[in-house]
Amino acid sequence: MRMLEVRNLTKRFPVEDSIFGKPTRFLTAVDDVSFGVERGAVFSLVGESGSGKSTIARLICGAYKATSGEILYMGKPIGRTKEDYRNIQMIFQDPDASLNPRKNVFAIIEEGLRIHKLGSSKERREKVMGILESVGLDRLTVKKFPHELSGGQKQRVSVARSLILQPELLVLDEPTSALDVSVQAQTLNLLGDLQKEFSLTYVFITHDLKIVSQFSDYVGVLYLGNIMEIGPVDEIIDNPLHPYTQGLLESVPQPDPSKKAMNEILKGEIPSPLNPPKGCPFITRCPKAYEPCTEKPGLTVVGDRLVRCHLYDTGGN
Ligand code: SF4
Repeated sequence: MRMLEVRNLTKRFPVEDSIFGKPTRFLTAVDDVSFGVERGAVFSLVGESGSGKSTIARLICGAYKATSGEILYMGKPIGRTKEDYRNIQMIFQDPDASLNPRKNVFAIIEEGLRIHKLGSSKERREKVMGILESVGLDRLTVKKFPHELSGGQKQRVSVARSLILQPELLVLDEPTSALDVSVQAQTLNLLGDLQKEFSLTYVFITHDLKIVSQFSDYVGVLYLGNIMEIGPVDEIIDNPLHPYTQGLLESVPQPDPSKKAMNEILKGEIPSPLNPPKGCPFITRCPKAYEPCTEKPGLTVVGDRLVRCHLYDTGGN
């Protein structure tokens, strides 16, 4: 059984109401998305800003309700029990926004144990100290407040706060993108080590395919709320099939500066989800668009992956 199963998930936000307060216009942030995550695996969702990846993270963690579709955790609809909220934790992009500036590090990390009424005060203290060590923070950090910490230290506190409840699944929403380049690699290494140490399962949200290639087992490529390509990370990085995945890979900075201007695919901006193109979601930017693309393609099985592109309707080319 897969630990997490996302089935036909759709999320629409109302953006305009009638004079009677009834929603008349919707923004589709997530459109019929399905994927599964095995225990102990790292599954990444990758796409540009506006692709719907953070909305999916919030749906998994119960911050949003799905418009339709379902999310199963260990075979059962997610969020039915208090245990689900302990077992699934989220790490946010911006630790500044997620840490209470009025609480010290000890109180921030201990809070989950208090909420769930876990352990005596002595046991909670021991747990906080143990987890601080696991995330590479000095014991003296407990007395500090968020404003006294660096960006990397704050993100380590966020990680410690999530791990204190011994979750099974971590949903990480761009956990390094608000950090200086110099500490991004350290934080990624830490997350990799913790995944092994605590046998964690990750859903990793990022816009950066370079991180995906280092860090994941499977990847889903999102565009305007749609899965465009999904499958084993090595296959997708070595041989991207979808034109959008090819474009994302070409935008990864190259060590050779002469290759920088090569991205001929991802020209222009992602269209507004308020006004998505008709037919294939990628049609306005796709250099391979042709007549059939005015109809929205379904997902086609190509080897071990699924690809949403008419070029593969008959089994690939
Ligand atoms: Fe491009 Fe057409 Fe494929 Fe969409 S369906 S990615 S527009 S070739």
